[in-house]
Amino acid sequence: MSRVYNFSAGPAVLPEEVLKEAADEMMDYRGCGMSVMEMSHRSKMYDDIINEAEADLRELLNVPDNYKVLFLQGGASLQFAAVPMNLMKNKKAGYIVTGQWAKKAYQEAKVYGDAVELASSADKTFSYIPDCSDLPITDDMDYVYICENNTIYGTKFWQLPNTKGRELVADVSSCFLSEPVDVTKYGVLYGGVQKNIGPAGVVINIIREDLITDECLTGTPTMMKWKTQADNGSMYNTPPCYGIYICGKVFKWLKNMGGLEVMKQRNEEKAAVLYDFLDNSKLFRGTVVKKDRSLMNVPFVTDNDELDAKFVAESKAVGFENLKGHRTVGGMRASIYNAMPKEGVEKLVEFMADFEKKNI
Ligand SMILES: *Cc1c(COP(=O)(O)O)cnc(C)c1O
Repeated sequence: MSRVYNFSAGPAVLPEEVLKEAADEMMDYRGCGMSVMEMSHRSKMYDDIINEAEADLRELLNVPDNYKVLFLQGGASLQFAAVPMNLMKNKKAGYIVTGQWAKKAYQEAKVYGDAVELASSADKTFSYIPDCSDLPITDDMDYVYICENNTIYGTKFWQLPNTKGRELVADVSSCFLSEPVDVTKYGVLYGGVQKNIGPAGVVINIIREDLITDECLTGTPTMMKWKTQADNGSMYNTPPCYGIYICGKVFKWLKNMGGLEVMKQRNEEKAAVLYDFLDNSKLFRGTVVKKDRSLMNVPFVTDNDELDAKFVAESKAVGFENLKGHRTVGGMRASIYNAMPKEGVEKLVEFMADFEKKNI
C-alpha cells in the first residue's frame, strides 16, 4: 500500500486511522455480521451510531442545547436554496459575495426573494475579505449570509460581519471543525462534509431552534424543510447512513487529538510552514491579502503559466496530488485540512524550494 500526500480541495484527505477502522469493520460491524452500509437505519445499532455522532459533534463544537444538529443530503449546494426557503419570511436577505460559493448561494436566493449584495470582493478576484463593519443592512432582511472560508480563493472571515442584529447564516464547508467556533454568533451554520469531515453526500446543519418553523416559502419540498428533518431526527427518509458513520469516526478522531483548540494550533503551525515559504520565495507567491488568509486552502502562483503546469506535473510525479488550482483561477492550491499531517506540508515546501532552485 502506498498513500500519496493528497492536497485536494474536496473530496479530501481523511485520517488514516479512520480509514483503517472503517476497513476493519467493513465485513462485520462489531459482531452484528454485516457492514454499516447494509443495516437498517431504524435498527438499534444504527441509532447508536447517529446519536453518538451527534453527541460527539456537540461536544467538539460546544453546541448549545437550543441548537439542532441535522445530518442532511444534497451537499452544501442544496442548502443554497434551503436557506431562503426556510428563512425568507420577509423575502429579503443580504449576501456578502467573497467567491464562487457565496455567489452561487446569492444567485440561488434571488430565485426565491430579494437577495441584496451587501459587499463583494470580485473587483480583485476575491483575494480579500471586504470590510463588513458597517454594511447597508436593513431591518427587513431575514438574514445576512457569508461563506466563511472561501475554498477556491483561499480567504477566511477572521472577524464575523456586523449583521446589525440580523441572523447570521454561514457556509462553513471548508473550515468546519478546523478551530473552535462560538455557535451562538450564528443563526445557522452548515457545511458539506467532504472538505474536512467525511465522505461527500452528507451536509451538516446547526440551526438555532426558533429558526426552525413550519413557515417556509410556499412550495418548499417536504424534504427541504428543516422542520421535517428536525422533527424526525434527520431520519424522515433514509439518511446517508454510511457517510454519517464515517463522520462519527472523524469526530472521535478529533476528540482523541485533543479537540478543536489543539486542531487550531496544529492548523496554524501547518499553514505557517507554507505561508512563510511563500513570503520568502523568489519564484512562488501567495495570491491572498495576508490578513485574510485561510488556514485550510492556500492558493499560490509563479506568475508563469508554463512553470505552474510544470510544477503541478512534477509534484504529481513524486506523490503530491491535486495541487492544481481551481479551473477558474489557475495556478496552484494546496488544501491542508485537519487530516493533512504537518509532515506533508514540510515535504511539499522542500519540494517547492528544490523546484525554485532549478527554475529560477
Ligand atoms: C465545496 C463547497 C461547496 C459545494 O459543496 P457540494 O457539497 O458539492 O454542494 C459549497 N460551499 C463551499 C464553501 C465549498 O467549499
